Amino acid sequence: MIVRPKGTKDMLPEEAYKWQFLERIAAETASGFGFREIRTPVFEHTELFARGVGDTSDIVNKEMYTFLDKGNRSITLRPEGTAGVARAFLENGLAGGAMPFKVYYLISAFRYERPQAGRLREFHQFGAELYGAEGAYADAEAISLADAFLKNLGLKKVALRINSIGCPHCRAKYHEALKAYFAPRLDEMCADCKTRFDKNPMRMLDCKEENCKKIASDAPRMLDYLCDDCRAHFDQVKNLLDLASVPYTVDPSIVRGLDYYSRTVFEFVSDAAGAQGTVLGGGRYDTLLSQLGSKEVPAVGFAAGMERLLMVMNAENAPFGKEIATECYLLGMDEKSREKAFLLATELRRAGVSAETDLMERSVKAQFKYADKIGAHCVAVIGESELSEGAAEVKDMKTSASEKVNFKELAQYLIGRRSL
Ligand code: ATP
Ligand code: MG
Repeated sequence: MIVRPKGTKDMLPEEAYKWQFLERIAAETASGFGFREIRTPVFEHTELFARGVGDTSDIVNKEMYTFLDKGNRSITLRPEGTAGVARAFLENGLAGGAMPFKVYYLISAFRYERPQAGRLREFHQFGAELYGAEGAYADAEAISLADAFLKNLGLKKVALRINSIGCPHCRAKYHEALKAYFAPRLDEMCADCKTRFDKNPMRMLDCKEENCKKIASDAPRMLDYLCDDCRAHFDQVKNLLDLASVPYTVDPSIVRGLDYYSRTVFEFVSDAAGAQGTVLGGGRYDTLLSQLGSKEVPAVGFAAGMERLLMVMNAENAPFGKEIATECYLLGMDEKSREKAFLLATELRRAGVSAETDLMERSVKAQFKYADKIGAHCVAVIGESELSEGAAEVKDMKTSASEKVNFKELAQYLIGRRSL
Protein backbone atom coordinates (compact mmCIF):
# COMPACT_ATOMS: atom_id res chain seq x y z
CA MET A 1 0.00 0.00 0.00
CA ILE A 2 1.20 3.49 -0.83
CA VAL A 3 1.13 5.75 2.23
CA ARG A 4 1.17 9.52 2.49
CA PRO A 5 4.56 11.28 2.72
CA LYS A 6 5.94 11.92 6.20
CA GLY A 7 4.71 15.14 7.74
CA THR A 8 1.49 15.33 5.71
CA LYS A 9 -2.08 14.70 6.81
CA ASP A 10 -5.33 13.65 5.19
CA MET A 11 -8.21 15.92 5.97
CA LEU A 12 -11.07 13.43 6.13
CA PRO A 13 -14.74 14.37 5.62
CA GLU A 14 -15.33 13.88 9.38
CA GLU A 15 -12.92 16.73 10.10
CA ALA A 16 -13.59 18.90 7.09
CA TYR A 17 -16.41 20.84 8.71
CA LYS A 18 -13.99 21.98 11.41
CA TRP A 19 -11.68 23.32 8.72
CA GLN A 20 -14.59 24.99 6.99
CA PHE A 21 -15.48 26.65 10.28
CA LEU A 22 -11.93 27.92 10.79
CA GLU A 23 -11.77 29.23 7.24
CA ARG A 24 -15.17 30.88 7.45
CA ILE A 25 -14.35 32.67 10.71
CA ALA A 26 -11.02 33.77 9.23
CA ALA A 27 -12.65 35.18 6.08
CA GLU A 28 -15.51 36.84 7.97
CA THR A 29 -13.27 38.42 10.59
CA ALA A 30 -10.83 39.71 7.97
CA SER A 31 -13.69 41.15 5.89
CA GLY A 32 -15.00 42.92 8.97
CA PHE A 33 -11.67 44.77 9.12
CA GLY A 34 -11.75 45.56 5.40
CA PHE A 35 -9.16 42.95 4.38
CA ARG A 36 -9.76 41.30 1.00
CA GLU A 37 -8.62 37.85 -0.07
CA ILE A 38 -5.51 37.31 -2.18
CA ARG A 39 -4.36 34.02 -3.78
CA THR A 40 -0.83 33.62 -5.04
CA PRO A 41 1.00 30.60 -6.53
CA VAL A 42 1.92 27.57 -4.44
CA PHE A 43 5.43 27.71 -5.92
CA GLU A 44 7.68 30.66 -6.62
CA HIS A 45 11.23 31.28 -7.78
CA THR A 46 13.56 30.21 -4.98
CA GLU A 47 15.20 33.62 -5.04
CA LEU A 48 12.02 35.25 -3.74
CA PHE A 49 12.26 33.40 -0.43
CA ALA A 50 16.05 33.63 -0.23
CA ARG A 51 15.82 37.40 -0.57
CA GLY A 52 12.49 37.94 1.15
CA VAL A 53 12.54 35.56 4.10
CA GLY A 54 16.29 35.91 4.53
CA ASP A 55 19.19 33.52 4.41
CA THR A 56 19.78 33.40 8.16
CA SER A 57 16.28 32.12 8.87
CA ASP A 58 15.67 28.44 9.64
CA ILE A 59 13.25 28.37 6.75
CA VAL A 60 15.74 29.32 4.06
CA ASN A 61 18.66 27.52 5.69
CA LYS A 62 17.17 24.09 6.03
CA GLU A 63 13.42 23.86 5.57
CA MET A 64 12.65 24.67 1.96
CA TYR A 65 11.24 22.29 -0.62
CA THR A 66 13.40 23.37 -3.52
CA PHE A 67 13.81 21.64 -6.87
CA LEU A 68 14.86 22.29 -10.44
CA ASP A 69 11.97 22.20 -12.86
CA LYS A 70 12.30 20.80 -16.37
CA GLY A 71 13.40 24.22 -17.61
CA ASN A 72 16.24 24.17 -15.07
CA ARG A 73 14.73 26.92 -12.91
CA SER A 74 15.09 26.73 -9.17
CA ILE A 75 11.58 26.54 -7.79
CA THR A 76 10.43 26.41 -4.15
CA LEU A 77 7.09 25.36 -2.65
CA ARG A 78 6.07 28.37 -0.55
CA PRO A 79 7.22 27.98 3.07
CA GLU A 80 5.07 30.95 4.12
CA GLY A 81 2.69 33.47 2.59
CA THR A 82 4.21 36.89 3.07
CA ALA A 83 6.90 36.83 0.38
CA GLY A 84 4.43 35.77 -2.33
CA VAL A 85 2.00 38.54 -1.39
CA ALA A 86 4.81 41.10 -1.46
CA ARG A 87 5.90 39.88 -4.89
CA ALA A 88 2.32 40.01 -6.20
CA PHE A 89 1.86 43.52 -4.79
CA LEU A 90 4.94 44.79 -6.62
CA GLU A 91 4.48 42.82 -9.82
CA ASN A 92 0.87 43.95 -10.24
CA GLY A 93 1.61 47.58 -9.43
CA LEU A 94 -0.87 47.59 -6.55
CA ALA A 95 0.88 50.47 -4.82
CA GLY A 96 -1.01 52.67 -7.27
CA GLY A 97 -4.38 51.52 -5.85
CA ALA A 98 -6.11 52.28 -2.57
CA MET A 99 -3.69 52.48 0.33
CA PRO A 100 -3.31 51.02 2.84
CA PHE A 101 -3.36 47.74 0.99
CA LYS A 102 -5.07 45.15 3.20
CA VAL A 103 -5.29 41.47 2.25
CA TYR A 104 -5.70 38.08 3.86
CA TYR A 105 -4.88 34.59 2.64
CA LEU A 106 -5.72 30.98 3.47
CA ILE A 107 -2.92 28.76 2.18
CA SER A 108 -1.02 25.53 2.52
CA ALA A 109 2.69 25.98 3.20
CA PHE A 110 5.62 23.57 3.02
CA ARG A 111 8.62 23.19 5.28
CA TYR A 112 11.02 20.29 5.58
CA GLU A 113 10.91 19.95 9.37
CA ARG A 114 11.01 17.06 11.81
CA PRO A 115 7.33 16.11 12.02
CA GLN A 116 5.73 16.16 15.47
CA ALA A 117 2.41 17.23 16.98
CA GLY A 118 1.71 20.71 15.60
CA ARG A 119 4.70 20.60 13.26
CA LEU A 120 4.09 19.27 9.77
CA ARG A 121 5.76 19.39 6.38
CA GLU A 122 2.58 20.52 4.70
CA PHE A 123 0.54 22.78 6.95
CA HIS A 124 -2.03 25.54 6.60
CA GLN A 125 -2.04 29.19 7.47
CA PHE A 126 -4.44 32.06 7.74
CA GLY A 127 -2.47 35.26 7.26
CA ALA A 128 -3.07 38.97 6.83
CA GLU A 129 -0.91 41.76 5.43
CA LEU A 130 -1.24 45.53 5.70
CA TYR A 131 1.03 47.68 3.49
CA GLY A 132 1.66 51.39 3.28
CA ALA A 133 1.09 52.55 6.87
CA GLU A 134 4.13 53.12 9.04
CA GLY A 135 2.45 54.37 12.19
CA ALA A 136 1.44 52.38 15.25
CA TYR A 137 -2.22 52.33 14.19
CA ALA A 138 -1.37 49.72 11.56
CA ASP A 139 0.39 47.48 14.08
CA ALA A 140 -2.56 47.81 16.45
CA GLU A 141 -4.99 47.04 13.62
CA ALA A 142 -3.14 43.86 12.62
CA ILE A 143 -2.94 42.68 16.23
CA SER A 144 -6.63 43.52 16.80
CA LEU A 145 -7.58 41.48 13.74
CA ALA A 146 -5.59 38.52 15.03
CA ASP A 147 -7.18 38.90 18.46
CA ALA A 148 -10.70 39.15 17.01
CA PHE A 149 -10.11 36.04 14.87
CA LEU A 150 -9.06 33.96 17.89
CA LYS A 151 -11.96 35.30 19.96
CA ASN A 152 -14.42 34.57 17.16
CA LEU A 153 -13.12 30.99 17.14
CA GLY A 154 -14.27 30.82 20.75
CA LEU A 155 -10.74 30.53 22.18
CA LYS A 156 -10.32 31.87 25.69
CA LYS A 157 -6.90 30.74 26.82
CA VAL A 158 -4.66 32.13 24.12
CA ALA A 159 -2.32 34.85 25.37
CA LEU A 160 -0.80 37.72 23.38
CA ARG A 161 2.87 38.53 23.83
CA ILE A 162 4.45 41.54 22.19
CA ASN A 163 7.92 42.94 21.87
CA SER A 164 9.86 45.44 19.80
CA ILE A 165 13.03 44.40 18.00
CA GLY A 166 13.83 47.95 16.92
CA CYS A 167 15.02 49.14 13.54
CA PRO A 168 18.30 48.28 11.75
CA HIS A 169 19.68 51.50 13.22
CA CYS A 170 19.21 50.73 16.92
CA ARG A 171 19.64 47.01 16.44
CA ALA A 172 23.28 47.43 15.43
CA LYS A 173 24.17 48.48 18.98
CA TYR A 174 22.06 45.68 20.40
CA HIS A 175 23.85 43.11 18.23
CA GLU A 176 27.13 44.26 19.74
CA ALA A 177 25.75 43.82 23.24
CA LEU A 178 24.43 40.36 22.35
CA LYS A 179 27.75 39.30 20.91
CA ALA A 180 29.57 40.48 24.02
CA TYR A 181 27.12 38.43 26.10
CA PHE A 182 27.22 35.26 24.01
CA ALA A 183 30.94 35.23 23.10
CA PRO A 184 32.20 33.63 26.34
CA ARG A 185 29.36 31.06 26.24
CA LEU A 186 29.49 30.21 22.54
CA ASP A 187 31.34 26.91 23.11
CA GLU A 188 28.34 25.46 24.95
CA MET A 189 25.84 26.44 22.27
CA CYS A 190 24.55 24.48 19.26
CA ALA A 191 26.07 24.61 15.79
CA ASP A 192 23.20 26.76 14.46
CA CYS A 193 23.74 29.33 17.17
CA LYS A 194 27.43 29.51 16.29
CA THR A 195 26.46 30.46 12.74
CA ARG A 196 23.80 32.88 13.99
CA PHE A 197 26.41 34.54 16.19
CA ASP A 198 28.20 35.79 13.08
CA LYS A 199 25.27 36.34 10.77
CA ASN A 200 22.39 37.52 12.97
CA PRO A 201 22.94 37.17 16.74
CA MET A 202 19.35 38.11 17.60
CA ARG A 203 18.22 34.83 16.07
CA MET A 204 20.05 33.08 18.92
CA LEU A 205 17.18 34.17 21.18
CA ASP A 206 14.79 32.05 19.12
CA CYS A 207 16.75 28.77 19.37
CA LYS A 208 14.69 25.73 20.32
CA GLU A 209 17.59 23.82 22.01
CA GLU A 210 17.10 23.61 25.78
CA ASN A 211 20.65 24.58 26.66
CA CYS A 212 20.73 27.51 24.23
CA LYS A 213 17.37 28.67 25.58
CA LYS A 214 18.79 28.65 29.11
CA ILE A 215 21.84 30.67 28.11
CA ALA A 216 19.69 33.10 26.11
CA SER A 217 17.32 33.73 29.00
CA ASP A 218 19.75 36.17 30.65
CA ALA A 219 20.81 37.91 27.45
CA PRO A 220 20.49 41.71 27.11
CA ARG A 221 17.03 42.84 25.97
CA MET A 222 16.33 44.78 22.83
CA LEU A 223 13.84 46.94 24.76
CA ASP A 224 16.77 48.52 26.60
CA TYR A 225 18.40 49.51 23.31
CA LEU A 226 15.46 51.02 21.37
CA CYS A 227 16.09 54.40 19.78
CA ASP A 228 13.66 57.22 20.61
CA ASP A 229 11.55 56.69 17.50
CA CYS A 230 11.24 52.95 18.00
CA ARG A 231 10.40 53.44 21.67
CA ALA A 232 7.68 55.99 20.87
CA HIS A 233 6.26 53.65 18.24
CA PHE A 234 6.14 50.74 20.69
CA ASP A 235 4.55 52.89 23.39
CA GLN A 236 1.83 53.94 20.98
CA VAL A 237 1.14 50.35 19.92
CA LYS A 238 0.64 49.48 23.58
CA ASN A 239 -1.63 52.49 24.11
CA LEU A 240 -3.80 51.56 21.15
CA LEU A 241 -4.07 47.96 22.32
CA ASP A 242 -5.15 49.24 25.74
CA LEU A 243 -7.69 51.46 24.01
CA ALA A 244 -9.06 48.49 22.04
CA SER A 245 -9.10 46.31 25.21
CA VAL A 246 -6.75 43.77 23.68
CA PRO A 247 -4.83 42.27 26.61
CA TYR A 248 -1.10 41.57 26.15
CA THR A 249 2.15 41.06 28.01
CA VAL A 250 5.48 42.46 26.90
CA ASP A 251 7.87 39.56 26.39
CA PRO A 252 11.46 40.51 25.50
CA SER A 253 12.26 36.95 24.41
CA ILE A 254 10.06 37.19 21.31
CA VAL A 255 12.17 37.86 18.22
CA ARG A 256 10.34 35.79 15.55
CA GLY A 257 12.00 33.36 13.19
CA LEU A 258 12.09 35.36 9.96
CA ASP A 259 14.73 37.91 9.05
CA TYR A 260 12.42 40.59 7.70
CA TYR A 261 10.90 41.84 10.95
CA SER A 262 11.48 45.23 12.53
CA ARG A 263 9.91 47.09 15.48
CA THR A 264 6.73 45.34 16.64
CA VAL A 265 6.71 41.55 16.86
CA PHE A 266 3.98 39.47 18.49
CA GLU A 267 2.84 35.95 19.15
CA PHE A 268 -0.35 34.39 20.42
CA VAL A 269 0.51 31.36 22.52
CA SER A 270 -1.45 28.57 24.14
CA ASP A 271 -0.50 25.83 26.58
CA ALA A 272 -3.03 23.57 24.93
CA ALA A 273 -0.95 23.20 21.74
CA GLY A 274 1.70 21.29 23.70
CA ALA A 275 5.33 21.99 22.88
CA GLN A 276 4.42 23.93 19.73
CA GLY A 277 2.66 26.65 21.65
CA THR A 278 2.68 29.50 19.15
CA VAL A 279 -0.56 29.47 17.20
CA LEU A 280 -0.12 32.85 15.53
CA GLY A 281 2.90 35.04 14.91
CA GLY A 282 3.53 38.31 13.20
CA GLY A 283 5.04 41.74 13.24
CA ARG A 284 6.19 44.71 11.25
CA TYR A 285 8.54 44.28 8.29
CA ASP A 286 9.36 47.65 6.84
CA THR A 287 12.36 46.41 4.87
CA LEU A 288 10.86 43.40 3.11
CA LEU A 289 9.47 45.18 0.07
CA SER A 290 12.61 47.20 -0.52
CA GLN A 291 14.61 43.97 -0.31
CA LEU A 292 12.50 42.77 -3.21
CA GLY A 293 13.51 45.77 -5.26
CA SER A 294 10.77 48.30 -4.55
CA LYS A 295 11.00 51.65 -2.83
CA GLU A 296 10.34 51.35 0.90
CA VAL A 297 6.78 50.29 1.68
CA PRO A 298 6.06 49.88 5.39
CA ALA A 299 4.26 46.64 6.18
CA VAL A 300 2.81 44.66 9.06
CA GLY A 301 1.17 41.25 9.12
CA PHE A 302 0.74 37.88 10.78
CA ALA A 303 0.14 34.21 10.08
CA ALA A 304 -1.72 31.63 12.14
CA GLY A 305 -1.07 27.90 11.98
CA MET A 306 -4.41 26.22 11.34
CA GLU A 307 -3.37 22.73 12.53
CA ARG A 308 -2.22 24.18 15.84
CA LEU A 309 -5.43 26.18 16.15
CA LEU A 310 -7.41 23.01 15.58
CA MET A 311 -5.49 21.29 18.39
CA VAL A 312 -6.14 24.20 20.75
CA MET A 313 -9.81 24.35 19.81
CA ASN A 314 -10.18 20.64 20.51
CA ALA A 315 -8.35 21.02 23.82
CA GLU A 316 -10.45 24.02 24.86
CA ASN A 317 -13.64 22.32 23.70
CA ALA A 318 -14.40 25.31 21.52
CA PRO A 319 -17.50 24.96 19.34
CA PHE A 320 -16.99 24.27 15.63
CA GLY A 321 -20.62 24.63 14.70
CA LYS A 322 -22.36 21.54 13.41
CA GLU A 323 -21.71 19.62 10.27
CA ILE A 324 -24.64 20.25 7.96
CA ALA A 325 -26.45 16.96 7.47
CA THR A 326 -28.81 15.95 4.67
CA GLU A 327 -32.31 17.19 5.42
CA CYS A 328 -34.23 14.40 3.79
CA TYR A 329 -33.42 10.86 2.72
CA LEU A 330 -35.93 9.54 0.19
CA LEU A 331 -36.52 5.85 0.65
CA GLY A 332 -38.11 3.87 -2.17
CA MET A 333 -39.41 0.47 -1.03
CA ASP A 334 -39.55 -1.14 -4.47
CA GLU A 335 -38.47 -0.52 -8.05
CA LYS A 336 -41.27 1.93 -8.89
CA SER A 337 -41.00 3.85 -5.64
CA ARG A 338 -37.25 4.06 -6.07
CA GLU A 339 -37.81 5.99 -9.28
CA LYS A 340 -40.26 8.33 -7.54
CA ALA A 341 -37.74 8.82 -4.71
CA PHE A 342 -35.09 9.74 -7.27
CA LEU A 343 -37.45 12.26 -8.88
CA LEU A 344 -38.47 13.78 -5.54
CA ALA A 345 -34.82 14.12 -4.49
CA THR A 346 -34.17 16.06 -7.69
CA GLU A 347 -37.16 18.33 -7.02
CA LEU A 348 -36.17 18.93 -3.40
CA ARG A 349 -32.64 19.97 -4.38
CA ARG A 350 -34.05 22.38 -6.95
CA ALA A 351 -36.16 23.86 -4.17
CA GLY A 352 -33.01 24.32 -2.07
CA VAL A 353 -33.52 21.37 0.28
CA SER A 354 -30.63 18.91 0.65
CA ALA A 355 -31.68 15.39 -0.27
CA GLU A 356 -30.27 11.94 -0.87
CA THR A 357 -31.70 8.74 -2.17
CA ASP A 358 -30.70 5.12 -2.75
CA LEU A 359 -27.95 4.59 -5.31
CA MET A 360 -27.21 0.95 -4.47
CA GLU A 361 -30.61 -0.72 -4.76
CA ARG A 362 -30.60 -1.68 -1.10
CA SER A 363 -33.29 -3.13 1.14
CA VAL A 364 -35.54 -0.92 3.27
CA LYS A 365 -33.61 -1.89 6.38
CA ALA A 366 -30.23 -1.12 4.78
CA GLN A 367 -31.52 2.22 3.54
CA PHE A 368 -32.73 3.21 7.01
CA LYS A 369 -29.36 2.24 8.40
CA TYR A 370 -27.62 4.47 5.84
CA ALA A 371 -29.95 7.41 6.53
CA ASP A 372 -29.14 7.04 10.21
CA LYS A 373 -25.37 6.91 9.54
CA ILE A 374 -25.37 10.11 7.50
CA GLY A 375 -27.47 11.83 10.15
CA ALA A 376 -30.38 12.65 7.81
CA HIS A 377 -32.96 14.76 9.63
CA CYS A 378 -35.93 12.99 8.02
CA VAL A 379 -36.63 9.89 5.98
CA ALA A 380 -39.48 10.09 3.48
CA VAL A 381 -40.71 6.55 2.89
CA ILE A 382 -42.39 5.75 -0.41
CA GLY A 383 -44.04 2.41 -1.18
CA GLU A 384 -46.94 1.15 -3.20
CA SER A 385 -49.65 2.76 -1.04
CA GLU A 386 -47.79 6.09 -0.82
CA LEU A 387 -47.51 6.13 -4.58
CA SER A 388 -51.26 5.73 -5.00
CA GLU A 389 -52.00 8.30 -2.27
CA GLY A 390 -49.50 10.81 -3.69
CA ALA A 391 -47.98 11.32 -0.24
CA ALA A 392 -44.86 10.09 1.58
CA GLU A 393 -44.60 8.84 5.12
CA VAL A 394 -42.08 11.29 6.59
CA LYS A 395 -40.26 10.09 9.67
CA ASP A 396 -38.40 12.44 11.98
CA MET A 397 -35.18 10.55 12.72
CA LYS A 398 -34.74 12.14 16.15
CA THR A 399 -38.22 11.68 17.60
CA SER A 400 -39.30 8.76 15.37
CA ALA A 401 -42.63 10.55 14.92
CA SER A 402 -44.00 10.29 11.40
CA GLU A 403 -46.69 11.90 9.31
CA LYS A 404 -48.03 11.77 5.77
CA VAL A 405 -46.94 14.64 3.55
CA ASN A 406 -48.13 15.26 0.01
CA PHE A 407 -45.38 14.86 -2.58
CA LYS A 408 -46.18 18.37 -3.80
CA GLU A 409 -45.86 19.87 -0.32
CA LEU A 410 -42.72 18.00 0.68
CA ALA A 411 -40.24 20.84 0.01
CA GLN A 412 -42.38 23.38 1.90
CA TYR A 413 -42.83 20.93 4.76
CA LEU A 414 -39.07 20.33 5.06
CA ILE A 415 -38.26 24.04 4.88
CA GLY A 416 -40.85 24.64 7.61
CA ARG A 417 -39.06 22.12 9.83
CA ARG A 418 -35.83 24.10 9.80
CA SER A 419 -36.92 26.38 12.60
CA LEU A 420 -37.81 23.42 14.85
P1 ATP B 1 8.05 27.83 15.09
O1 ATP B 1 8.88 28.75 15.94
O2 ATP B 1 7.03 27.07 15.86
O3 ATP B 1 8.88 26.99 14.16
P2 ATP B 1 7.79 29.82 13.07
O4 ATP B 1 8.32 31.04 13.70
O5 ATP B 1 8.65 29.05 12.15
O6 ATP B 1 7.19 28.82 14.17
P3 ATP B 1 6.00 31.30 11.34
O7 ATP B 1 6.87 31.21 10.16
O8 ATP B 1 5.88 32.59 12.04
O9 ATP B 1 6.39 30.15 12.38
O10 ATP B 1 4.55 30.78 10.95
C1 ATP B 1 3.37 31.25 11.59
C2 ATP B 1 2.61 30.13 12.26
O11 ATP B 1 2.50 29.00 11.41
C3 ATP B 1 3.29 29.56 13.49
O12 ATP B 1 3.03 30.35 14.62
C4 ATP B 1 2.67 28.19 13.62
O13 ATP B 1 1.40 28.27 14.23
C5 ATP B 1 2.49 27.81 12.18
N1 ATP B 1 3.57 26.89 11.74
C6 ATP B 1 4.85 27.21 11.41
N2 ATP B 1 5.53 26.11 11.02
C7 ATP B 1 4.66 25.08 11.10
C8 ATP B 1 4.74 23.68 10.80
N3 ATP B 1 5.84 23.12 10.34
N4 ATP B 1 3.63 22.92 11.01
C9 ATP B 1 2.49 23.47 11.46
N5 ATP B 1 2.35 24.78 11.74
C10 ATP B 1 3.42 25.57 11.56
MG1 MG C 1 9.79 27.33 12.36
